[in-house]
Amino acid sequence: MPWYIECAQDDCRTRHCADYRGHNCERCGGLLEVRCELTGLNGAGLRATWIERRLSNLPLDGSGVWRFRELVNFFDDPGSVISLAEGRTPLLEAPRAGHWAGGVRLSVKHQGANPTGSFKDLGMTAAITRAVALGVPVVACASTGNTSSSMAAYAARAGLKALVFVPAGKISAAKLAQAIDLGAFIIELGENFDQAFDLVRKASADLGLYLVNSVNPFRIEGQKTLAIELLEQRNWSPPDYIVVPGGNLGNVSAIAKGLRELRELRLVDKVPRLVVIQSAGADAFYRLISTGAQELVPVMQPETEATAIRIGSPANWRKARRALIETQGLCESVTDAEIFDAKRALTVDGIGCEPASAATLAGIRKLCAAGRIGAGADVVAVLTGHQLKDPDYVIRHAGEIECGRRVQVKPEAGALRRAVERVLKASA
Ligand SMILES: *Cc1c(COP(=O)(O)O)cnc(C)c1O
Ligand SMILES: [Zn+2]
Repeated sequence: MPWYIECAQDDCRTRHCADYRGHNCERCGGLLEVRCELTGLNGAGLRATWIERRLSNLPLDGSGVWRFRELVNFFDDPGSVISLAEGRTPLLEAPRAGHWAGGVRLSVKHQGANPTGSFKDLGMTAAITRAVALGVPVVACASTGNTSSSMAAYAARAGLKALVFVPAGKISAAKLAQAIDLGAFIIELGENFDQAFDLVRKASADLGLYLVNSVNPFRIEGQKTLAIELLEQRNWSPPDYIVVPGGNLGNVSAIAKGLRELRELRLVDKVPRLVVIQSAGADAFYRLISTGAQELVPVMQPETEATAIRIGSPANWRKARRALIETQGLCESVTDAEIFDAKRALTVDGIGCEPASAATLAGIRKLCAAGRIGAGADVVAVLTGHQLKDPDYVIRHAGEIECGRRVQVKPEAGALRRAVERVLKASA
């Protein structure tokens, strides 16, 4: 077998059999990791193969996850892969936003371009492909919204039942609508993600549900390809920093794993520093890192308008801490007001995203102001979700955004002329 499942704790590393369905080590209870056999793989050869596949019309080659299948190799035949052509997301320069943040050379890797509009699709194609191989009938997740939309899509494609647990009234209407539209069953419970997650985690073993939250190690395998695709887009020249918002901390853990494997294969010679940005109302990981504490202390009542990262007790904190240690990474916490300003700054480059994604730029600005990121640094912000994921947020803030840009006039020529003349005189 070219892959196996292993405990992710360095002082344990117990191997588990390949069809193990749990998400915790049987010996120490820690999270698990899929290990991909790298011996025998040749870095230069892989680069050439991966580029060649860009010209291919095979469905597997059209996926930004499975195009890198030498490193995502836990499937038997290509026909068994459940894909919606995820990944292959753009890397866009954002010069005005970079200037605003403190004079960095900024580009954004926009995960909103995924099939259901967030990076969760990278992980979900992998987890659902694994669920099919295991022959499970029902997949389940707790969600702040995007995991449920993504799971609903991939489960539908695989012909599996999908069961979503979400905090009642706490996820955006757009995300809920996606999950409903794609045929998921929805159970609303609790005040926040953490409650829903805690319940579904305990129930999944008893009730025979296959859990596809980011504690599922196959999710991480799909998501690690973000790092591979990004480096390929940069002709294998690493940036100084890769910045991600931190919720349950699966994404940063996955990117770190991707970078680790690229370095082992000598596909990069330098590893970028990973930066996690949390929202001030849900910043348990930031407190852990900034105080140097040994154990995470959960935030009991997480609160932030960036609902995708409204998580008080991030499950992947140990993996994420390792990611920061390994890459000499940074962590910062930003307020909702700072996130709002950053989201506005991105729109000046024509880039929309959901609030949690804009936390990255808010964090970069704060780290620049503190001198922890230098002017001129080469920075990639991972924008995790699509602009249309949270229209309620924009409407709530409409007064601050429109500033006289939106007017209603009588449907007659004179009024229209006056309105247009006002626009012509206004500054951009
Ligand atoms: C899930 C999500 C996050 C948080 O990612 P984690 O892996 O849980 O840290 C951030 N932004 C968006 C848009 C998300 O959907
Ligand atoms: Zn263990």
